[in-house]
Amino acid sequence: MFVFTSLLILLPIVAFCGTGSVWEYTGIHGPSHWHEEYPDCSGVMQSPVAIESKKATYDVSLLQFGFKGFSERVHANMTMKNNGHTVQVDIVDTSLRTHGGGVTGGYKPVQFHFHWGADNSKGSEHVIDNHHYPMEMHLVHYSDRFQKIEDAIDKPDGLMVLGFFFEIGPHNIHFAEVFNYLENVAHKDDTAAIPPVVMERLVPIDLMHYYRYRGSLTTPPCYESVVWTIFTQPITISNDQMNDFRNKIKKTTVNDTHEEDLVNDFRPLQQLNGRNVYSSFLTQNPSTPSPQAVQSITVICKHSHDDTNNAISKNLSLFAIFIGILTSGFTCGH
Ligand SMILES: [Zn+2]
Repeated sequence: MFVFTSLLILLPIVAFCGTGSVWEYTGIHGPSHWHEEYPDCSGVMQSPVAIESKKATYDVSLLQFGFKGFSERVHANMTMKNNGHTVQVDIVDTSLRTHGGGVTGGYKPVQFHFHWGADNSKGSEHVIDNHHYPMEMHLVHYSDRFQKIEDAIDKPDGLMVLGFFFEIGPHNIHFAEVFNYLENVAHKDDTAAIPPVVMERLVPIDLMHYYRYRGSLTTPPCYESVVWTIFTQPITISNDQMNDFRNKIKKTTVNDTHEEDLVNDFRPLQQLNGRNVYSSFLTQNPSTPSPQAVQSITVICKHSHDDTNNAISKNLSLFAIFIGILTSGFTCGH
């Protein structure tokens, strides 16, 4: 009897441990519990974060990206998959490369996936000035320094993710080439082949204003290996296209008796814990001094109290503003 009772207690534990990777966006396997099985999820450099434009530090080294192979059709079909947490599109073409953007070395794009809400008031993982977008796409890259993504995934700067927001507007004919296959991956574990697309039509390379910070994967195992780039200009899709995600994609398998929509697959905001967020552009109107420009001048002049030094300080401030305008024009002209 004792052995039998013990077995009854042990069986569910064994069954749970056997699955290993159970995590969800709600409930007992929700984000506040992820760290129990994935300790990195309680780290101090986690993602996503709330970005406040006025607190971002303008960084002149954040220049434009170079995208190799993005202007022609990719050389192989892509594979769309519903993994129960998101819809992911694997880029099979290995000749694509991304470089520049203030990041050292090249990065290979391997997949993109989406985070969306049950309605248009939420869905994006990152938040800009308290604004939530209905969807956010992550274009995941790994560093050329590694042979495969598995080697890069837990290394500092091993991954680079380009984040793109979506907003509701006119129908997007380019994304339709991808979204038309959503119904083929309605259920968890479904896959579909997508004919070759032109990547730059999906991610317009003139979206050059971006934020930069160092963070993590936004899903378990939450490795803190990601150079994050968040573009400010949203991509426009229609409300019907947005609703296709909410209505067609299920988090359940085709064999599950209770079908459940896959929505709200975004992680709650994480603390910055002293991390800086940088911007590739001046975050204030160029006619007013940027806090960074003024700050640097203040450091130079903080010991000056007499009128002569104040006059020098004013002239230096004007010079800094002038340089700021020039630099802004240079980096934002594309
Ligand atoms: Zn993501």
